[in-house]
Formats: sequence, C-alpha cells, structure tokens
Amino acid sequence: MTNEFAAAYQSECGPGGPYGALRNSHQSEGLAGGRYGALKTAHLDTVTSSRMIIGPDWSPFSRACPRPPGPDARGNYRIRSMPVRTRADADILDPAVLEDIVSGQLRLGARQALELYHRMPIQELGRLADARCRHLHGDRLRTYVIDRNINYTNVCTARCTFCAFRRDGHEDDAYTLEYDELLEKIGELVAIGGTQILMQGGMNPHLPLRWYLELLGEIKSRYPRVHVHAFSPPELVEFVRFFDPPGEGLEEKLRWVMRQLMAAGLDSVPGGGGEIFAPAVRRKIGLGKCDAEAWLTTMRVAHELGMHTSATMMFGHLEGIADRIHHLDLVRRWQDRSIADFAAEGGGRYVAFISWPFQRQNTPLGRCREWGADDPGELDETFPGDVVARLDGTGDKRDHPLFGRRVRLAGSTAYLRTQAISRLYLDNVYSIGASWVTMGPHIGQVALHYGANDMGSVMMEENVVSAAGTTYCLNEPMLCRLIRDAGFLPAQRDNEYMLLKVHADADAPDLRVDDWSALRAQRLHVESAPEPASPVELTVEATGDPC
Ligand code: SF4
Repeated sequence: MTNEFAAAYQSECGPGGPYGALRNSHQSEGLAGGRYGALKTAHLDTVTSSRMIIGPDWSPFSRACPRPPGPDARGNYRIRSMPVRTRADADILDPAVLEDIVSGQLRLGARQALELYHRMPIQELGRLADARCRHLHGDRLRTYVIDRNINYTNVCTARCTFCAFRRDGHEDDAYTLEYDELLEKIGELVAIGGTQILMQGGMNPHLPLRWYLELLGEIKSRYPRVHVHAFSPPELVEFVRFFDPPGEGLEEKLRWVMRQLMAAGLDSVPGGGGEIFAPAVRRKIGLGKCDAEAWLTTMRVAHELGMHTSATMMFGHLEGIADRIHHLDLVRRWQDRSIADFAAEGGGRYVAFISWPFQRQNTPLGRCREWGADDPGELDETFPGDVVARLDGTGDKRDHPLFGRRVRLAGSTAYLRTQAISRLYLDNVYSIGASWVTMGPHIGQVALHYGANDMGSVMMEENVVSAAGTTYCLNEPMLCRLIRDAGFLPAQRDNEYMLLKVHADADAPDLRVDDWSALRAQRLHVESAPEPASPVELTVEATGDPC
C-alpha cells in the first residue's frame, strides 16, 4: 500500500495519470471512513473546487514542474519543455489569467506579482497558491525529511547585521566541532531514521581545505548512506578566498573547490545566505558576505557539476516588497538557464525554495527602530524600503534618508503572502517549504494551504535562528500530526524528494502516540528575552556599512 503510493507519486502525476489512481485507491482503502474521515471528506470538497481551474495537459517533467526526472533506460535525462508565455499587459486579477497561471500555461510577470501581493485578499492569494501547489504535487501527500542541522563552527569573517550566531573566534563561546562530536550527532540522526545532514557554518579562516575533505571522508566512510547537504554559497565563495585554488576567475575556482568536496562526499548545496539579492539591501545586511551574482554563480556551478540545490530568502527587515519579487525573479531566471544548459546532461537545479522572516533578537539589525512603532503616523507614509526598491534590483539607498535605519518586521500574514507569491512566481522550482522553524508549528501548518508542499525537517537542534531568539523543536510524530491535521497524508522524503514512507496506516508515527500530553509537555518553543534597548539608535552604518 505504502509503496503503491510512493510509486504513483513518483511517476506521472497529471489528472489522468497515477494521481487519479492514487486518489481512488486511497479512498477505496477506507480512509475516508476512518479516523480522519470527516476531515478527508471536507478536504476532497476543497480539492474539487480547486481542480476546476487546472488544465488537462500538464506534464511533471515540463518547465512548469521541473522535478528531477532521473535518467531513462539509456541513461539520458528527458526534459519535455512547455512553452512559457508571459503577458505583461494582462490584468492579473482576471480569472482567466489566474487560471492559466495555476495550470502553468502562463508565467507570472514581476509587476503582476507585485500587484497580486498588494491587491489580492490574503485568503484569495492562499487559494491561488494552494491550487498551484495541488496542480504540481497532487492533493494527498505533503512531505517532510528527517535530517539534522549541524553548524560546524560559529567563527565567521562576515558581519551580517541580522546574525546573532557568529563569533570572531576569541570569545568563550566561539567553537568548531571536533570530528568525533560531529560524527556522534550524525549517529544520533541515523538512530532515529534520518537520511541527511544540513551542515553549514560560519566562514572560518582557520580551517584548511584538508579539514573539510577529511571530515567528508570520515562521514561517508562511517555513514555512507547519509546525504551530505552542505556549505552554502557564501561559504564556498570564501573557500575560494581562503584556499586560493587554481583557475581563472571565480567560476573556475569554484568548480575546482566543489569538485574536491564532491569527490570527498558532498552531495548537494543548501541555499543559505540568499537573504535579499537587491544590492542596496544586501550591502546593508550582509557585510563581508558574497554578492548576489557570486551567490547565483556558485549555484550555477553546482548545477553544472550535477548537484541539486535549494534557494532561500530572508525578508521582513529593510527591503521593499519589490525587492522580494526581484529576488524571486533572479532565482527563476538562473533556474531557466541551469535547466536549459545542464539538465539534458544530468545537471542539477534548484529543487526547493524556502523563505522566512528575519528574527531580530540579539542582532544589530534588530536594534533598528521598527517603522511606525514609536510614531504611528509613519504608517501613513510609504516604508523607506518600498520607496527605494525597484523590480529590476536597481534601488538606490539615497532615495530615502531613513532607508537602512528602519525595519518593517514580517508577521504571519506577511509571511503567508510572501510564500504564496513565491509558489506562483517560481513556476520552475519543484518544492516550496514551510518555515515552521521561525513561524511556529501552526503557521507552518497553515502554510501548507498557502503554496507549501513540504514541512522541512524534524528539528533535533537549531543554532542560528535560536541565537536570534526563536526556538521551536518538533519530532517526527508531531510533524506528521501537523501535516495530517492540515488534511494531508504525511510522507517522509529524501533530499531529492523521493518518497521513503507514506504514513497511511495505523503504525504511522503520529497515529501510534497514545499520550500527546507527554509530548506537549516537552519544551517546544523557547523565546529568549530581548536585549535591553540600546539608548543609541544602532543603524547598520554604525557597524561598518561598506556602501
Ligand atoms: S549569517 Fe552566516 S555569514 Fe553572516 S555573519 Fe552569520 S554566520 Fe557569518
């Protein structure tokens, strides 16, 4: 039963294909009348209405849903492309236009995305993103992965103003994990059925390339089946600076470094350090970190070498909404290029996108005044970030004197709106992840109805976001319960979104729990106390803004 689900999910998923069969077999297995019967029935009603705007000729291997298809019998990768049209002049609130966007027959333009963000009521935007998500991923399953975040060092040469995690190296709590500690963490992960590690760190100038190569070798010799998802683009760009590899220019040098790491055991590259690409914002928040072009070039080299990657965005600080759209636009454009240039030869691509709001506690940027907090009259004016932001990324900080000195934090609705837009805009990225780590489990659950198909990972430990004040931890039963209560079947996946287990029957992790109160009694959310407000307004310029 479980394997049938997995097989169906992983093959063609058009309305006439195995997804139809999957839905039917699911219902005929009697779940509709079972423990979650009422929920499932209500859910199917919703599905029917969203299906009404879904086109009939969708292909999972098209540009509209570029799931890595795997090689055919002759070892070739096949990509069937769909013509992607844009209609910049179309009224984005026209139902016929929206229908074409949901079915992947029309590509959302940047200006249209901005208009949708501002003009569409949130529940309508959610329904649209949900319909698009169901079109790509079907109605039944939503996924999660069991992995472990390992932050191998907090020593970092950069000084991102949103970061509470980094240390210079001389502080008492500066650290670099020993191999044994790191391997022990992986052993604990494997013991709970985990399949991958997400390993990122600060950019530590004291670690030679040999340290990384030997570490990867140790991991792979001890845990050959654990997928190593490691070293975000800013780290890889710094490796080029630290290790001075052979080659002309950044691209060649990156290729050399990445080849060494891959030979030692690196499997894929996480999308950390994306933040906001627009230069005016990035120069204010990512001090000492690579610029957008270097970030995107790093991912392009990873794709060329056959690795899949993810992309990220951290928003809700200085940026305007147009900066968020510009960020999505760059991911989409570079993804188009990677698919066109490398996919036919088995290259990689962005398989997932995840965005989350800035967490302000203990960070220099968090000490900037919040727009409108002390002077509600400010809220009648345009936020400085919106005055500066341009859809093509050419915003100039001089356009508003308070740009960089005021933050506009993003709450739940801003998060859901932004995620919904990302699902609609990134028509060539397979997965959208919900960020329950920053938003909390229940907004994460709601996010499954705002375009997200994936709940990310169980959380054994988290060091970066928690340093900025927010810690949520969830184990596998809780994650499954959240997905099931949102109206879906939870399914464990691997790094490439292949299904490992579909939890349809009574021995599912959540359905085996007799006493939820014992689980709830665990501390699932720890919020650190805010630092006392600084008597002096701290702007990012005060921390050494290079612009
Ligand atoms: S966010 Fe990453 S790169 Fe930036 S200061 Fe923190 S650890 Fe360093």
